[in-house]
Amino acid sequence: MTEMERLEKALLPYEKRLRAQERFRKFLGVKEVEQPTYQRYITGPVERFEKTRMAFLALRPGNTYGEELRKKFKAQTGYDRHLIAPEYEELEEEDRIARSISQAVTRACGDYEPEPFPITPLEGRLEVKDEAIISRLIKKVGLMFGADIVRITELDQRWVYQGGKISHKYAIICALQHKPSLLNLAPSYFSEASSGDSYSRLKIITTQLTDFIRGLGYDAMYRETRGSGEPELTMVPIALDAGIGEFCRTGRVLSPEYGNNMRLKAVTTDLPLLKDKPISFGTHEFCMACESCAKYCPPGAVPKGAPSDQMPNPVHNNPGFKKWWINAEKCIIFWGMNRKKWGSCGGRCMAVCPWNKPMNLFHNSVRWFAIHSPDFLKKLLVWGDEFVYRRKKQIDK
Ligand code: SF4
Ligand code: SF4
Repeated sequence: MTEMERLEKALLPYEKRLRAQERFRKFLGVKEVEQPTYQRYITGPVERFEKTRMAFLALRPGNTYGEELRKKFKAQTGYDRHLIAPEYEELEEEDRIARSISQAVTRACGDYEPEPFPITPLEGRLEVKDEAIISRLIKKVGLMFGADIVRITELDQRWVYQGGKISHKYAIICALQHKPSLLNLAPSYFSEASSGDSYSRLKIITTQLTDFIRGLGYDAMYRETRGSGEPELTMVPIALDAGIGEFCRTGRVLSPEYGNNMRLKAVTTDLPLLKDKPISFGTHEFCMACESCAKYCPPGAVPKGAPSDQMPNPVHNNPGFKKWWINAEKCIIFWGMNRKKWGSCGGRCMAVCPWNKPMNLFHNSVRWFAIHSPDFLKKLLVWGDEFVYRRKKQIDK
């Protein structure tokens, strides 16, 4: 057996997973397209966004964009910031356990900031003879490290926050599904844990991918994207460029496999790669027929109806779009409204999304129908989802 045959054998399970993903998307009729479908929402020039305007960062003391938001937050929650940990003795037993799980799984995504491995010098660098082969290798290794989806795009500098400098040509996007049993309890410390758990595992996956590429002799760096950290990239459009999914009503990426029930992280690199194409599978049309996320978001932060050019608050948003705008102020204030039960919402808008179903024959057939059916049948599917899952608007407090 040659060295390359041994490598192929070692990574065969991940090659099979890639092929299964490709077959699945083909079965659903997911199209690869030249331009991302979010182009339909762009109405003017899009400037790089100043990250300190993000509602999350604006809440920090001293942030000049956050004076109004901090006042509103204090008035409605009774304290200054949503990330203040509650006293454990104030919590009921179940919530102590959930809070403790959440803290345990979240630590790595904030505290794990390793210096990446040195880049292998030129004489030891792997020569890239075929970008398609090396891209396939990166995807297989990314899956082996634990990602659920790995795709590649060229980094569009519009999605690097103002003042940031990333000269790498490519971004490798890793997506990871939340643990549904945790997410489905949103809002709660359990759903908060589902988010922290995914971000921590993505941090490990992306640092490993970074070290792997640097070992091959090319520059690479894992990128911070969370609002609670020091974000470098705005993750949604980059993942849309890479074909992870399409833009949906929650302002997130909705993938054919996991709906919007996933978190994303990126590695940027100068390793020569083959970029993936964006995809199209009718998410806009489905979201027009479905308003579950808007209906069940407790503070009403997700909009109903058609995309709009009316931004909820120009301070925290970038103009140039006619889209579904999330009211970040309402969302983040809600996160702070019941610290005895949750520290962040954890995403009820994701938990109620009809796309977030297990991958099995029944649900895959429904997915196909959701993509290919006329609008009135899409509405019927949404009604069926609400009926079967007995959704209710009130939340457990
Ligand atoms: S995270 Fe919660 S509060 Fe924020 S938009 Fe989603 S459901 Fe609404
Ligand atoms: S809940 Fe419905 S409207 Fe919201 S993102 Fe999911 S499919 Fe779209």
